[in-house]
Amino acid sequence: MGHTVDFVCRACRYEERDLAVGHGRQPEPCLRLFHCDNCHSVGSTWLGAGRIARCSFCYHEAITLLADDAAGTPCPKCHAPGTFVHRRDQSWE
Ligand SMILES: [Zn+2]
Ligand SMILES: [Zn+2]
Repeated sequence: MGHTVDFVCRACRYEERDLAVGHGRQPEPCLRLFHCDNCHSVGSTWLGAGRIARCSFCYHEAITLLADDAAGTPCPKCHAPGTFVHRRDQSWE
């Protein structure tokens, strides 16, 4: 029902592996990609079913959610274009 995603920045080599998007048997909660301006990171976090989306690293609430199929986002460390590698063959449930 979901797949794993890696974030890679070739400029500064910041990367986050084994992020995930999608949902389980219920449509909510679901995992969404985000970037956090508070701790300058990219990650995935649970959203929905009464949950407030928080950064999974610093628990800050003011995170920016990204589309599940986002191709990339500026690197939170160095602002160069970062890439999301979607591993649709690696599903989780
Ligand atoms: Zn970078
Ligand atoms: Zn954060």
